[in-house]
Amino acid sequence: MAAERIDGKAFAEKLRERVGAQAAEFEAVAGRKAGLAVVLVGEDPASQVYVRSKHKATLAAHMESFEHRLPADTSQADLLALVEKLNTDNAVDGILVQLPLPDHVDEQAVIAAISPDKDVDGFHVTNAGRLAVGQSGFVPCTPLGCMMLLTDRLGDLSGMEAVVIGRSNIVGKPMAQLLLDANATVTIAHSRTRDLPGVVRRADIVVAAVGRAEIVKGDWLKPNATVIDVGINRLAPVEGEAKGRLVGDVDFAGAEGVAAAITPVPGGVGPMTIAVLLRNTLVAAYRNAGMDPPENSL
Ligand code: NDP
Repeated sequence: MAAERIDGKAFAEKLRERVGAQAAEFEAVAGRKAGLAVVLVGEDPASQVYVRSKHKATLAAHMESFEHRLPADTSQADLLALVEKLNTDNAVDGILVQLPLPDHVDEQAVIAAISPDKDVDGFHVTNAGRLAVGQSGFVPCTPLGCMMLLTDRLGDLSGMEAVVIGRSNIVGKPMAQLLLDANATVTIAHSRTRDLPGVVRRADIVVAAVGRAEIVKGDWLKPNATVIDVGINRLAPVEGEAKGRLVGDVDFAGAEGVAAAITPVPGGVGPMTIAVLLRNTLVAAYRNAGMDPPENSL
């Protein structure tokens, strides 16, 4: 039987609607809209697309969007000065500096300058630490979105074997932490892992965040595994195509016959990221206004 397709697009739309309704309630009690500031340095085409979609999604969710587009030669000092200004601006609840930054800017220094209470991307070392020790903070949007899809489908993850492939600070590590917090037995695999197929075969839950097209094959999977494919890879165009196809890190056709459920690419994890960013911004707004976020803001 073919695996169920986990419809991240539909889930994300519902989450955005819910956040939008709660953002309207926030405005009614706080007397101002929740606000997200997005900083883009330079003209990287992919970053421009992301920033534009974040702007539109923020406005659609009944929040204020502050866009700061700076030239590629902006100095690190000027960028840090802008971040400092946003840190103290009461209309701004969340700050997102679009990565990658130009080579002359130290990304870590910029992330470190963002107030942890406005760090809605969850990249600040304080928020990584909070996640590690189980305190509430901000969790990076992509892994949190994956976690929402998993718990929506599987409910209680206690005791399940989970394998996360990839150990980046923005996906793999926080994903593993979230799964551990949910009482899964977690293995983190990476480029030095021996016998990756053997490791993956143990897993009830596979999260692939590698960035290598279709590296995970169907016959690596345990029958009835749940597969979350974070990878976004563009194949080289074949004849007749202007652009190559987008594929994930999992060989979808091969996996479909073995897994119980799998996220497609596109339309799986991708749409969750912006929806969770809006959710994090709303939570930041409540906290910054000295109020508890609504219980069901997940
Ligand atoms: P990174 O390049 O930072 O990390 C990739 C990880 O994969 C590393 O830990 C690396 O291991 C591991 N890896 C590389 N090759 C292999 C291999 N052959 N076998 C096993 N592990 C391997 O990527 P990100 O975490 O930033 O992103 C991963 C993917 O997710 C990308 O395709 C990216 O586009 C996508 N992505 C999608 C998002 C979304 O849907 N919104 C958001 C963020 C990312 P090592 O540490 O040993 O080098």
